[in-house]
Amino acid sequence: MEMHTNKSDTNARSTRKKVAYVAVLALVIILISVIVASLVHRKILGDSSVEDPPWHRARLPKSLVPQHYRLELKPDLEASVFTGAVEITLYCLEPTRYIVLHANLLNITADSVFLKTFRGGSLTLEDWFLYPKNEFLVLKSKTSLETGQRYVIGIKFQGQLLEDMRGFYRSYYTANSTRRYLAVSQFAPMDARKAFPCFDEPAMKATFDVTLVHQSEHSSLSNMQIRQSEVRSGGWVADHYYTTVRMSTYLLAFVISDFSFKEGVTGVHDIVAVPQMGVPAMENWGLVVSHENRLLYAPQLSPVWKKEAVASMIAHELAHMWFGNLVTPVWWDGVWLKEGLATWAAVRGVDAAEPTWMVKERYFVQSLHQILLVDSSNLSHPLQLTVTGQDDVGRGASLMRMLNTVLDGTFTKGIVKYLQKYKYANAAQDDLWECLTEAAQEDGRTDVQVKDVMDTWTLQMGFPVVTVIRNYSNGSVTVSQRHFLYDPEANVQESLRNNVWQVPLAFMSRDSGNVSRDNGAMSSRDVLWLKKREEDFRSSIDASSWLLANTNQTGYYRVNYDVTNWRLMAEDLNSDNFQNIPSQSRAGLIDDAFNLVRSGDLAPAVALNLSRYLKREREYLPWLAAERVFGYLHMMLADTNSSSDLK
Ligand SMILES: [Zn+2]
Repeated sequence: MEMHTNKSDTNARSTRKKVAYVAVLALVIILISVIVASLVHRKILGDSSVEDPPWHRARLPKSLVPQHYRLELKPDLEASVFTGAVEITLYCLEPTRYIVLHANLLNITADSVFLKTFRGGSLTLEDWFLYPKNEFLVLKSKTSLETGQRYVIGIKFQGQLLEDMRGFYRSYYTANSTRRYLAVSQFAPMDARKAFPCFDEPAMKATFDVTLVHQSEHSSLSNMQIRQSEVRSGGWVADHYYTTVRMSTYLLAFVISDFSFKEGVTGVHDIVAVPQMGVPAMENWGLVVSHENRLLYAPQLSPVWKKEAVASMIAHELAHMWFGNLVTPVWWDGVWLKEGLATWAAVRGVDAAEPTWMVKERYFVQSLHQILLVDSSNLSHPLQLTVTGQDDVGRGASLMRMLNTVLDGTFTKGIVKYLQKYKYANAAQDDLWECLTEAAQEDGRTDVQVKDVMDTWTLQMGFPVVTVIRNYSNGSVTVSQRHFLYDPEANVQESLRNNVWQVPLAFMSRDSGNVSRDNGAMSSRDVLWLKKREEDFRSSIDASSWLLANTNQTGYYRVNYDVTNWRLMAEDLNSDNFQNIPSQSRAGLIDDAFNLVRSGDLAPAVALNLSRYLKREREYLPWLAAERVFGYLHMMLADTNSSSDLK
């Protein structure tokens, strides 16, 4: 009992002791967590004493711009992590104590962050913290940085080499049943900040000295050539690259792998195929990275279309070296411009190299008809808002084609001006319009104010259908326009219904007659502008001859005609003279006619009568157009009583 009592006494004492320990421990834990929380809070949320702090805004402040980066990255492929160090030279445009830059999912090494003057004078860094909401890293200087002075910041960091195909990521392939890893970058549009702290906006251009550290059995690639390889301990090699040109962060590229590379495929550019990639291909400056499916072509095994697809992809990415890389969009709403110009240039490039593929004609017929189709919905959007997919790229390219037709040789001249003026810098669409207008005026083309024209095509949603009504007794032609929609009852804002475009009309007639404002003589190359909702023109065309208003369908719009003109065209098409109408126009007529039926603007009999001529057609483009519209007809009539009539 005593013993028992004693024991229970001992137990009670030890329990009290334990409680005391636990209490002390709990207190310590609470204290530590409060301290840590306050530290973390400080490191994450920043300085709450500042009113309207710059890191609360989504865009980088304009007080500091980067000039040069010295960047070293060392990925560990097996451990799936990387470490790095960056030193950034900054130029101060406005006095500030805050250096705001991007960093996302990076661990910043606490005691590594420094700030100094460009000449090496030390400056006190009062604090630094991450602001994850805007993916910012903020450095707070004790004293204000001064306008016109240069400064250097330095940061060491670690990150994870995830297999997420964004930023600096890990990819793999299997050889001899073992998995081999490679490290690849995909920074566009805004994942460079996931690889290193940087000013990750397209207009924040700078030069870069890149060093990639890898195991000796691997090799590295970046935008530039290797200047020097340095052997380091532990089997590591540091490849130091030549300084880049002035460029945007999203165009940097790094690849570390055990691939062997074919030298000199394109001369100055490397093109590398990787097994996992989030986009089909990326136009990194000097190092195009492509998904392997898109790049690899085996002459004995791949189908013929693959050769053309690979050529087109390479041409597109190389065209970006000028449109996008040399001259970069100011912001991401201008992406359509680089995509449109690169596509337009690439199509012409491939066409020049392999004219027998007919890439130019085919691309424009194929993509124009596809885009006109998707752009006829009330769910479409203005081009300048953002490039959301392949259709917007084609839409941009089609607008460039229209502008090129209108401006003729002046277009190329304007493009050269634009590249010269904005090289190694950034430009928005208005800058291109200005260069094109300048070139047009130098060439005596005073009729075109490119901005006025193009704003109607890029800032408004959709496109117009132009209706041509001829008066066969007095020769006058009334041309009107309205927003083309498949469903005229569609829920569209009233303001959109009033959209007016500046439409370049390129007329052609069966006889030599033409259309003009004042019945004056005009060459067939001339363009007449429809700038109002409706205008009257004069024509010298015989009443027995058809009139075509969008010759070769170079304009991004549809055309409807009066019934007599449709009949005149159908008569000619259904005769041995059907080639009086050029093949691109024949393709355009087929596409327009059936889509006008779909929107309720044209009687089905008119379109079907027109299409009867196809039994004579031996050219590819009109059949390409027919395939699309018949496919739609077939789909709509498949389970109806009319399906046998269609056949
Ligand atoms: Zn592109």
